[in-house]
Amino acid sequence: SEFIKLEKVSLSYNGSTELQDMAIHEVDMSIQQGSFTAVVGPSGCGKSTMMKLLSGLQAPTLGYVFLDNREVNGPVSGVGMAFQKSTLLPWRNIIDNVLLPFEVSPDYEHRYRRRKSEYVNKAMSLLEQVGLKGFEHHFPWELSGGMQQRASICRALVHEPSLLILDEPFGALDAFTREELWIMLSELQQAKKFTVLLVTHDLEEAAYLADDIYVMSTRPGRITHHEKVTFERPRA
Ligand code: ADP
Ligand code: ADP
Repeated sequence: SEFIKLEKVSLSYNGSTELQDMAIHEVDMSIQQGSFTAVVGPSGCGKSTMMKLLSGLQAPTLGYVFLDNREVNGPVSGVGMAFQKSTLLPWRNIIDNVLLPFEVSPDYEHRYRRRKSEYVNKAMSLLEQVGLKGFEHHFPWELSGGMQQRASICRALVHEPSLLILDEPFGALDAFTREELWIMLSELQQAKKFTVLLVTHDLEEAAYLADDIYVMSTRPGRITHHEKVTFERPRA
């Protein structure tokens, strides 16, 4: 079923409705539940703006954003996010970083306090699935860049969001590490069946991972293309 729908969404950061002020202009988008969608395009085309709209951090100036058949009009819970730059807290070890969403979200805090060991086990098992078993008590700076991104993805998934948003998650990694993480991510998604939206400027990455690819152009930032890609994915 359709999980995300954008209808003629435009956004200007100054509230103006003039075409030249639009960061994105009349974007239509449709994303199926459990699919892997990539948004590709050059710097400045509006990729980050799209992600802010989908997580409810920005409201559209014109048009509508629907998530799970409800109009988005404020910060959305049930969305996990990870970014290019590590946002792990340096003074917390890996397991405490992964458990962070439970402490900062009022939606989860209550449940977390009553069922802490259950959530700790869940976090441990996620870390194991991404190859970080044994590193739970290490600090972020003791781990390689690739390992930090694995941990960031665990943190984005620990509260079992229905949508995972990844904004250039592998952009800072070397080619070999990047490819390892592509395999890790595609295995994780096949196992857990969450919906993924990946922002990248790496077409090879998009082609490797995504079922659907939206290509955005720089001016005025509208989506120009919607490709369904059916490359074979490597199997575990
Ligand atoms: P991308 O992520 O693809 O690089 P962005 O969504 O960051 O693109 O930017 C799209 C357009 O919106 C650009 O023209 C950018 O300068 C503008 N923009 C982005 N963020 C802001 C902001 N906070 N205030 C004003 N303009 C912004
Ligand atoms: P990644 O591909 O995730 O970036 P690396 O290629 O840097 O990881 O490291 C490969 C393996 O080496 C890791 O899976 C880990 O077992 C080990 N390793 C890397 N950095 C460290 C570290 N700081 N402490 C302990 N082991 C490490």
